[in-house]
Amino acid sequence: MTHPLKILIVAAEATPFIKTGGLADVAQALPGALHRQGHDVRLALPCYGSIPASLKGTQRGTLFVNLDGTTQYGAWRETRLPDVDVPVYLIENDHYFWRDHPYSVNGYEYVDNLDRFCFFSRGVLDAVAQTGWRPDVVHGNDWHTAPLITYLNTHLANHTFWRGMPTVYTIHNLGYQGCYPKNLLPRTGLGWDLFHPDCLEFYGELNLMKGAIAFATKINTVSRTYAREIQTPAYGLGLDGFLRTRKKDLTGIKNGIDYSLWNPQTDPHITANYSPDKLAGKQRCKRAVQDLADLPHRKDVPLFAIVTRLVWEKGIDLIVEAMDSFLRKGAQLVALGSGDPHLEVALETAGARWPDQVSVILGYDEPLAHSIYAGADFFIMPSRSEPCGLTQMYSLAYGAIPIVRRTGGLADTVTDLTPANLAKGLATGLVFRPATAEALTRATHRALRLYEDLKTLTAMRRAGMREDLSWERASAEYVALYNDAIDATKKRYAATVDPAKW
Ligand code: ADP
Repeated sequence: MTHPLKILIVAAEATPFIKTGGLADVAQALPGALHRQGHDVRLALPCYGSIPASLKGTQRGTLFVNLDGTTQYGAWRETRLPDVDVPVYLIENDHYFWRDHPYSVNGYEYVDNLDRFCFFSRGVLDAVAQTGWRPDVVHGNDWHTAPLITYLNTHLANHTFWRGMPTVYTIHNLGYQGCYPKNLLPRTGLGWDLFHPDCLEFYGELNLMKGAIAFATKINTVSRTYAREIQTPAYGLGLDGFLRTRKKDLTGIKNGIDYSLWNPQTDPHITANYSPDKLAGKQRCKRAVQDLADLPHRKDVPLFAIVTRLVWEKGIDLIVEAMDSFLRKGAQLVALGSGDPHLEVALETAGARWPDQVSVILGYDEPLAHSIYAGADFFIMPSRSEPCGLTQMYSLAYGAIPIVRRTGGLADTVTDLTPANLAKGLATGLVFRPATAEALTRATHRALRLYEDLKTLTAMRRAGMREDLSWERASAEYVALYNDAIDATKKRYAATVDPAKW
């Protein structure tokens, strides 16, 4: 092992405290993997009202955060990641965080998210300074923690505790940048001197993520392809030019999956455990999902599945358009999701036309998600953009063949069924390119044909299940990135010290 590092990871969600998507799984699994490698890693999260009381630990200190001239009071608590000896700091402020959902209500963002996450960002830095434990590197994630990177490089640039702190900033999704009207800038506590196109200004608005991109020592995103894509106008959402200015500090590290939670051989949520060598249990899991979804027991037709946030980015409308075609051939579909109310209605309405073949379950249900990966034959993911994607990796691990659009992490994790890939034992899924219902329809027809070819189907299931998708590889890449950030910071400081003075 390289020498042990002290790493502070800051995120807006982490399993099992609170989860809305893949970020939560990453913020739980990465610290665990780093801890197993001997690093002293700690995690900081907001203390949401919906976090179970048994996970909230004990209050350790108070916080007085003054960003815009008024003091906001809060506290910080200390707990542990369950089953792993990783300390977790929870930043408390009931006014901001005593809410069930971390970001929104009925699909609409809370109006005070800017204040909430600025308070969180600043509160984390004050709480950690109180502990006296000084990390070697601070790792922020997504727009919610972007202000933290900016505070470290402005308010706290000369702070005795935080001065010269190396930072890594991970973009899990460029689709959420933390954009607000510019008149809200004073509420962040940041000065107008930062409101220019090389920092917080974005087409006349305040963009929190831009600040982190400007200041972080190293930036990464969650797959190599996505790291390349976001530097192009098609995927850059207006930030491609700015990201290109940091090209040499921008890398991609593909997420892993946590096999202690996502393993069909041990998963307690599924009806029967199974492995690549003993696949029989998967049939029982299929029957169980058909029961849960109120669909007839059919072995002879494939069961397609979706587990997702229902947002445009995930190509849900393409599924709605394409589904009639594969349902007409007799296939079944089970869809679990929640999100955009319009997409919820669209999916439900389309599904209602096929009551004996489609089951749409609106909501968020973690155990059911496990059962669906286990029971499904195919998993559909036609994302318009996909930074990494975990669901296709869970599908691979559970032998549900992913049908994906070639973008971002989907391109980096799923290998298309071509004769050459099949011959080499590499084919694990069905990949298509255009973001159209026609292309998705063609891919689902390939799936229908594949379902008739049991030998190839089984070979592909096994290839996916045997892939090493563990966090060990990804966390080793993070350690290398942390070390790069530390080295780069040392060099920068060395360059600013005048040896003649000493
Ligand atoms: P994203 O982070 O963009 O939502 P990912 O594929 O990276 O997408 O991660 C999604 C995570 O959220 C997975 O763990 C998936 O199982 C879970 N998930 C998404 N929607 C639901 C749902 N409705 N019920 C249960 N789990 C869900």
